[in-house]
Amino acid sequence: MNRQHVPQALFTQSPPRLGNSFRDDPLLAGWLRRVFPVASLPGIAAELDELGRVAGGALYALQLADRLNEPVLTQWDAWGNRIDEVAVSPLWREAERLTLGHGLVATAYERERGRHARLEQFAKVYLFHPSSDVYTCPLAMTDGAACTLLQSGNRALMERALPHLTSRDPAQFWTSGQWMTETTGGSDVGRSETRAVFEDGCWRLYGRKWFTSAVNSQMALTLARPEGNPQGGMGLAMFYVEVRDGAGRLNGLCVDRLKDKLGTRKVPTAELTLDGTVAELVGQPVDGTRAIEPMLAITRMWNSVCAVASMRRGLALARSYAAERLAFGQPLARLPLHLDTLAGLEAETWGAFLMAFLLVELNGRHECGELDDEQRALLRLLTPLTKLVTGKQAVAVVTEVVESFGGAGYLEDTGLPALLRDTHVLPIWEGTTNVLSLDALLRSDLHSGLAALLGRASACVRGVAEPRLAGAARQGVGAIERAALWLESAQDPERMQAGARRLALTLARALQLVLLCEHAQWLLDHARDARGLAAALRYSRAPVDVMHDFDPSLDRQLLGG
Ligand SMILES: Cc1cc2nc3c(=O)[nH]c(=O)nc-3n(C[C@H](O)[C@H](O)[C@H](O)COP(=O)(O)OP(=O)(O)OC[C@H]3O[C@@H](n4cnc5c(N)ncnc54)[C@H](O)[C@@H]3O)c2cc1C
Repeated sequence: MNRQHVPQALFTQSPPRLGNSFRDDPLLAGWLRRVFPVASLPGIAAELDELGRVAGGALYALQLADRLNEPVLTQWDAWGNRIDEVAVSPLWREAERLTLGHGLVATAYERERGRHARLEQFAKVYLFHPSSDVYTCPLAMTDGAACTLLQSGNRALMERALPHLTSRDPAQFWTSGQWMTETTGGSDVGRSETRAVFEDGCWRLYGRKWFTSAVNSQMALTLARPEGNPQGGMGLAMFYVEVRDGAGRLNGLCVDRLKDKLGTRKVPTAELTLDGTVAELVGQPVDGTRAIEPMLAITRMWNSVCAVASMRRGLALARSYAAERLAFGQPLARLPLHLDTLAGLEAETWGAFLMAFLLVELNGRHECGELDDEQRALLRLLTPLTKLVTGKQAVAVVTEVVESFGGAGYLEDTGLPALLRDTHVLPIWEGTTNVLSLDALLRSDLHSGLAALLGRASACVRGVAEPRLAGAARQGVGAIERAALWLESAQDPERMQAGARRLALTLARALQLVLLCEHAQWLLDHARDARGLAAALRYSRAPVDVMHDFDPSLDRQLLGG
């Protein structure tokens, strides 16, 4: 008997299947109908339909087949020349082709699309990300670099780099890195050690960059301290670097090694030594941490949408599996407790989606100069809040998705462990949860942001007629009001810092609840669709208000510090 064959009498489970990720996503479809002008919808939907077909079909199949391929760094050629070439995986090469075809970066800069350019771009990113093996990482930084250069006012650099960063032509397209983190820290980049020296008529950089993702990019924006500048973030300046010269030679830098990471294993994240790297000053020779902020605002928006996309992918797989997998005589999908588990995840995904795309909408309108002061304050607060809460939600949802497959979820060749590992980076890079909570508390002009948030939430309550939705929306507004009261009454800075994460999560979850109620009402009114109502009510049952004051001296006692 050939033992490689499975005896016919034994059962084998059919794997989860993905369909067209666009057609299978009623949340996206409903939201598109709500935000886009009717006339532009068919064109947008046709492109999303094509992307959804590929993302759930050929690209997903390639992703599973390409599972074991990782980037390879070749440091030397046969003749002893230092070359530091990075070969990326086949899926990444295909992802670049799709990026250009669908203009995943370019769409945002095609100004004829007006205030909807960002919404259109991120609807595509949302469909593309989960099958891209995090090719969205270099795209986020590319978009961030384009935006930063646009705002810098440096005409020469804009003319040099922007046509590449926003191109749809493979011969022209560049991606950009963002070299900030050093061994001294990624949260506190003010401690950076990289020096900028003005030599022979140009700036040269000397130092070590500790995390540089997508090191195969053609350019990067980075921070360095011009000689003589003071310590701290104020003493840093932002520089533009091209990684190689016209002949392909490295620009005074070497790739020491690629990092061996928990996840994002297809992303070549490197440690670099800069040893006389020729660089151009983008703006002033000071205040680089402020100058690079537009980059972070954009990459945090990408992070938020990619987090929601990972949740959606996990749920699509879990729901497909639950429809097929039998336990106790029924498909899992019919077992009340399994259904309850998946419904909780679905409601989380709806809340995260609506918040992430509100952020996208505000950014798009900001770029078109349409925001007033109040809306700008809301945008400043929403950027860290959305990034931090969606990162946490994605990890929680995808963790539960893995469990929903039982033992199969733990097996590498299902692709599920990779989805989980890739999701785990979302709360870390582009600012950890704590750092973003403090950013919201201390740096985003919280008081005006809070007033704007409360205004947005209260307007929402007024527009919600369905009594259960109105009750849930009031619950959200109440949580925001209590958070605002805490902030007003808090006197002790140490206590405030210690409560920053609870404050941020409360505001974020309360806003998600309110947005869910608003969208649910719209779906009832315009599509007679009660799924939004179910999502909002389900979401409202989970704790929204996680605020509580706590004495940090008790924390010290607990930890023995
Ligand atoms: C896969 C991957 C790719 C990356 N790619 C890039 C890249 O391309 N470019 C780049 O510049 N960086 C990159 N990074 C680095 C990333 O941005 C940093 O790791 C991150 O910002 C955290 O910095 P750190 O690692 O130095 O941690 P630390 O700053 O040392 O933080 C350690 C812990 O302390 C907490 N903490 C720090 N400050 C405070 C505070 N004031 N209050 C409370 N808690 C605090 C943090 O929340 C964290 O939990 C990448 C990281 C990863 C994992």
